[in-house]
Amino acid sequence: MHSTIEKLNKIFSSLPSLGPRSARRICLTLVKNQETLTKELIKTLVALSSIKECDLCNNFSEKKICDICSDLSRDHDQICIVEDILSLWAIERTGQYNGLFYVLNEETSLSNSTQEKLIKSIENKESHMEIIIAMNSTIEGQALATYIKSILRSFENITLTTLALGIPMGSQMDYIDQGTLTIAFKTRKEFS
Ligand SMILES: [Zn+2]
Repeated sequence: MHSTIEKLNKIFSSLPSLGPRSARRICLTLVKNQETLTKELIKTLVALSSIKECDLCNNFSEKKICDICSDLSRDHDQICIVEDILSLWAIERTGQYNGLFYVLNEETSLSNSTQEKLIKSIENKESHMEIIIAMNSTIEGQALATYIKSILRSFENITLTTLALGIPMGSQMDYIDQGTLTIAFKTRKEFS
């Protein structure tokens, strides 16, 4: 096999959810479609390098402030705290939420800088806010939720809520079907 193709195969095989067989098929498609699909892919991959984390919420963004944070039609008195971008995408896919996000992007515990940034985003507001703690239904996620609750409890201008019905224990938000996630979101309850 040609070494470039071998290299490409290796890269694709290392991607999540792609085995060697899928990797080989993708390679073949790319080699066969160099003038169309592959050209577009190369352009998009180059553009990827300008994606950073939003200064306010840690969402992916090509600007300092992401599209969600800078969208004035969204409710800026609601912040939904999620573990990762996959959770943000899952909630956005439901189309049921029009507030802001805060993405933790950390494994199991919160660094001091993350805590400070999160607290700052709440402290800067004068209005009453709803903070939705939407962690994955895993042991780590629930431990994080309890911890976040403990650090935000002292704020008087917030109501803490959490997702309700229907999310099976052990599941990550990205894998939950949209209907279930929509119901869990709509029936969210105060985090007691
Ligand atoms: Zn943002």
